[in-house]
Formats: sequence, C-alpha cells, structure tokens
Amino acid sequence: MKKFILFFLFCHVTALAQNHNHSFGRKIAFPNVSGYLTLKSDLHIHTVFSDGSVWPDIRVQEAIRDGLDVISLTEHLEYQPHKDDIPHPNRNRSYELALRLAENSDLMIVRGSEITRSMPPGHSNAIFIEDANKMIKDDAMDAFEEAQNQQAFVFWNHPTWTGQETDGIAKLYDLHEELIEKGLLHGIEVVNMDTYSEEALQIALDHNLTIMGTSDVHGLIDWDYETQHGGHRPITLIFAEERTEAAMQAALEAGRTVVWYNDLLIGRAVHMNLLLNASVTVESLNYPGDTQVAHVQVKNNSDAKLMLHNLSDFTFYDTADIIELAPQASTTLKVKTGKRLKTFDMKFKVLNAIVAPKEQATLTIQVK
Ligand code: ZN
Repeated sequence: MKKFILFFLFCHVTALAQNHNHSFGRKIAFPNVSGYLTLKSDLHIHTVFSDGSVWPDIRVQEAIRDGLDVISLTEHLEYQPHKDDIPHPNRNRSYELALRLAENSDLMIVRGSEITRSMPPGHSNAIFIEDANKMIKDDAMDAFEEAQNQQAFVFWNHPTWTGQETDGIAKLYDLHEELIEKGLLHGIEVVNMDTYSEEALQIALDHNLTIMGTSDVHGLIDWDYETQHGGHRPITLIFAEERTEAAMQAALEAGRTVVWYNDLLIGRAVHMNLLLNASVTVESLNYPGDTQVAHVQVKNNSDAKLMLHNLSDFTFYDTADIIELAPQASTTLKVKTGKRLKTFDMKFKVLNAIVAPKEQATLTIQVK
C-alpha cells in the first residue's frame, strides 16, 4: 500500500516538474544591446471587448508566459461585434482590467485603441493614449488628430491585408502621405499575425516610419503559434533607455525596433547591428595540438536562430560557407587560418536578418 501511495506521489511530483520546465523554456529572451534595454512587445491584441474571443486576463497570462515586457489591448473603436452580450460604454475597460490583472507582475500594459476604417487609411493603432472614448469620431482624420492631442504613437496596421488590398501589396495612398506629413502616423506593421510585407518595409524606410510586428491575436496565442512545439508570436523588440512607458515611447518614436517573426529578424541596419553584436559573442579561441585550425566557440545569446553566410577568405575545416547558430547555444567554428593567429576578424552575411527588401545584415566578429 505504501509503495502504491509513493508511486502516485512520484507521478504527481514528476508532472509538476515537467510543467515547470515547459513554461520556463517558453519565455522569450533577447540580450540587451549597447546603450539600451531590449524590451519585448506585442502592441496589437484583441479581447472580447472588440472582436477577440477571450477576456483580458488570458492576454495578460499569455504575455507573462511568453516573458514579454509590454502589451497593448488595442480594441477596435468602431467594430464591436460582442456589444449586445458585453455592453461596452467605456472603451478603456479592457485596458483597466488588464492593468489590474497585471498588477503583481512585471508586465507593462499601455493604453491603446484601433482606429478601424476602410482603405485608405485602413486600420491603425494609437497607443500611449489617455482616453479611448474621446477617439470615437465620425471622420477618420478627426480620430488621428485626437490621437495627436493625446500624444499617441500611431502605426498603420496590416497594410498588406487581403481583406482590404486583394493583391496583398501595401500601397501608400494620398491620405497616408497627408497623415505622415502632418506627423499623425509614425509606424507601420511590416509583420502582422502570419504575414510579412516587403512593400511595407520599403514604405517604412522611404518615409521614416517605425518598423513594427505584432500578433493581432484574436483567439489563443497557443493555438495560433503552437508554442508547445517551439513556436512564438511575432514581437517587436524595442531598444529603450529605461524600462518605462516614456522611454519606450521615445524609442518607438526614434524608430529603434527590430521585429522577430518566425525565423526572420527585420529592422533598420543600425538597430539590427546592435542586436546582432549583442547576440553573438566569442567565448574562446584555441588551436588544438600543433594545427593551424582555429577552434572558435561562439555563443548565440538570443532566441532567434541565426543563419550565417561566410564572407571572409578563411574556409572551414568541417563545413561549407553556411553556418547555423542555434538559439541560446554555443557553436564551435573550425577555421583554417593558415597560421596561428592571436586575433582575427570574421565577416558574415546574416541570411535571416532583413535590413531592407532583398538586403541582409552583415556581422563582423572579432575573434581573440
Ligand atoms: Zn487588430
């Protein structure tokens, strides 16, 4: 009988241990970069307070499980399909609930709303707003102007969405140009949910808009991104001076972001370089025996897999010119340097780090 009880106790403890390990491995991790903290954000999310399927507490718990620093529940101002079941006179309600639910955690919640119009201008998120109720306007331009009154950061959502652009190609309309000229539009989603837009990236670069990527989740993160199989939601890494709302907004206004989407990193070259330089570090260099083959141990400190294409003249002892640095792991490069060097540089193209349409980041590693 005792053995029987012990057996059950053992099963129970083992099950708990497994659960613990699972949620630990799920938290998204990226290193801080030179001069800035790296904050992980998802700034486009829905709940039952617009057309989402879950209560705000689930959004808070999902974000904590993912190890995010900040989220925004950006309910549609104009699209309220659950209104008959969930009367919604106060459009700040989902923010207020999430704020209370996140009280005992490190997760930050910023107030936001989705200005929901046909194209142009399509859908846009205004975040860091003061009062969502005041943003309900008949005319789209009035809503953008109210966002500016509230000193919001505003970004254009899914410009590529086939629900509004049947060819899936993001296009800048006169109305967008006007919004940008008046300082009413500051960012653009290059990644939304399960879409990536090269045209949106070009618009961001041409018009100095901040590069954004979000989940725009309506159902469950686990179902959409299969986190149990190592998947992750699209996030925007924000390089901020401090872990505060004000510093985060300043960083977004300055365009200091990199988006992580599936195996892709997308951002301006200057910010991509900050991230890659912090993500890849050299742990050791040695020449075994009397060989001239350097064993260079490099560590990838990020959750993103990095695909490197060798651009230096050195060749490798055991592989071709393409090297994969697995996330959060060390890799030994066996480099034929010809003679035993105390220090040398290796240059790579990072094949999955996009800095412009059809252009990838380069990374130079100083080995010593
Ligand atoms: Zn949305």
